[in-house]
Amino acid sequence: MDFKAADNLQDLQYFGEYGGVNPSISDSSTYTFLSAKTMFDTFEGNTEGCYLYSRHSSPSNLYLGEALAALEGTETANVTASGMGAISAVILQLCNAGDHIVSSRTIYGGTYALMKNFLKKFNIGISFVDTTNMDAVAMAITPKTKMIYCESVSNPLLEVADIKALSKLAKKNNIPLVVDNTFSPLSISPAKLGADIVIHSLTKFINGTSDCVAGAVCGTKDFCLGLKDVNNGAGMLLGSTLDSLRASSILKNMRTLHIRMKKHSENTMYLAKNFENDGLRVVYPGLQSHVGHEVMKKQYNMEYGFGGLMTLDVGSLEKANALMELMQKKHLGYLAVSLGFYKTLFSAPGTSTSSEIPLEEQLEMGLTNGLIRFSIGLDDHIDRTYMAMKDCLIQLDILRPESAKV
Ligand SMILES: *Cc1c(COP(=O)(O)O)cnc(C)c1O
Repeated sequence: MDFKAADNLQDLQYFGEYGGVNPSISDSSTYTFLSAKTMFDTFEGNTEGCYLYSRHSSPSNLYLGEALAALEGTETANVTASGMGAISAVILQLCNAGDHIVSSRTIYGGTYALMKNFLKKFNIGISFVDTTNMDAVAMAITPKTKMIYCESVSNPLLEVADIKALSKLAKKNNIPLVVDNTFSPLSISPAKLGADIVIHSLTKFINGTSDCVAGAVCGTKDFCLGLKDVNNGAGMLLGSTLDSLRASSILKNMRTLHIRMKKHSENTMYLAKNFENDGLRVVYPGLQSHVGHEVMKKQYNMEYGFGGLMTLDVGSLEKANALMELMQKKHLGYLAVSLGFYKTLFSAPGTSTSSEIPLEEQLEMGLTNGLIRFSIGLDDHIDRTYMAMKDCLIQLDILRPESAKV
């Protein structure tokens, strides 16, 4: 693919207020106008480059938005106070009461709960389908369907969406394809593959330091301006606004995203390969055994690898819990939700991040209770980490010492 997201990011150049190499942080909620007429025009949405009020836009948020648009190759992007703030705004912008959404059934627990429970208030119908099955997606589309929604690499089962195929189907039906790309920034470029709107939780890899919550919507100027419309924009009116101070710190962290993603992927690949060799049940899109491996290879930006998440099924919740506690004790990572940190994070999704999904549905989609989701860290010596993790697995009888290869 000739789209080079990291180069686009590298080429962005800012001059701060006093010539600083970082843009100045906007420290104002409201902005002055030299003429009353300009203020009126700005309300009407006619004056580009004029700031009105920071819930609408602020210089710091616009800078971060530009970087995200460069990352995804979209015309522009809006930033929000959280990933859920981005998702809820997009859905409520596109759907009226009585409309319908076709969504992947394996999505982030919060998104699942929003769609399944909260959107009932608006009588918005949801069909949760296996989005790797194009016939199932096509069958679910009705005249009321307003979008196809999926995650490029899904949470927590790491299902890989065939974005080109889904986009074709969406275009045929004249509806947008909305893709949450939180798990695979840089390694997958959904907009380049045909997605109309790309969403991120910046909380994860993009910020990468687990110190704040933020989100983004990447799309066309039309759509993003619509979200900011003072009369009927879901972004503007639902009020999920990112603070300028945070926007500027996320922008600074984004500059090392390419280095981090490569290392996350390299480390995860190493562990996934070795654990699979040891006979463990590993799910990682980089493994040939993964059902989405071929689709991933077809659409990923190779240099960033197959991503920083993998799952390990250790058979039971008891074993999963014991293993996670032991690994934390051995300083191998934290028993914590979320992802994209410099240290490995692990959690059992069935009882945490996906607990919103009813048990029988969890089982149906392959979310077993012995499943541990790992967001692999930036460990400098992953071979050392592997040996230490293996010691934990042997100590808990999940792995027998003789099956361990040297
Ligand atoms: C965390 C996450 C979200 C929600 O983002 P917040 O920043 O926590 O609101 C949405 N989608 C995916 C895939 C996530 O991992």
